[in-house]
Amino acid sequence: MRQKLVVGNWKMHGSRASVADLLDKIVAAMPAAAPGVAVCPSYVHLSQAIQLCAGSAVAVGGQDCSHMQSGAYTGEVSAQMLADLGCRWVIIGHSERRQYHSESDSLVAAKLGAAMAAGLQVIVCVGETREQRESGEAEAVVASQLRGALDGQANLAGLVVAYEPVWAIGTGLTASPDQAQAMHAFIRGCLAGVAGIDADATRVLYGGSVKAGNAAELFARQDIDGALVGGAALDAGDFLAIVGAAQA
Ligand code: PEP
Repeated sequence: MRQKLVVGNWKMHGSRASVADLLDKIVAAMPAAAPGVAVCPSYVHLSQAIQLCAGSAVAVGGQDCSHMQSGAYTGEVSAQMLADLGCRWVIIGHSERRQYHSESDSLVAAKLGAAMAAGLQVIVCVGETREQRESGEAEAVVASQLRGALDGQANLAGLVVAYEPVWAIGTGLTASPDQAQAMHAFIRGCLAGVAGIDADATRVLYGGSVKAGNAAELFARQDIDGALVGGAALDAGDFLAIVGAAQA
């Protein structure tokens, strides 16, 4: 039985005041028997978030990390720095990193290795564009992203995969539960062929315009183990409703 997991990706949003307001509300209303819950604020708000979530069921993670351990890499933040601060999680290979920062599969693989070595729990994102889906390439693209990130890794313990179709991120378009379930089952099949992974025990999250109104029907599907949530994670009521749907 896989425990459901709901992760909020706050992207480049927030101020000290809004982080305090959002986390006060989320932490105060977190159900006692909550599923796994984490929030990923920007780097500059991590320390504040870790303090506000201390002693609660809400874990904190980074939205990215460097592939390097330390050194002259201006502007970078290492996985070890995130772990040292008190982060439990890190998101790797988000489509916005791939799109706006030209992150390749090999860079995603190097980041994943660095994050695992630092003891972080890793969420690796994969997903096809609208053009790739329309031309029937969705499974091939996802399989290739998975191979690129996972092949040859020394340690994949506790890995979480997030299936995030690019066409559904921030667009209001959600993959239907059937579309999402089909791709999640496909991903689980791919994971079964990767050394060091127990595919049945690996959580596969769905991401792409998850909201209070569509979470429950997504979570009811056999291979959908929770969600990576963008826009709806910035509203305490919406995020808590998604957490509640994962608990049900
Ligand atoms: C995301 O960025 O990971 C995401 C799923 O965003 P949204 O929920 O806003 O589509």
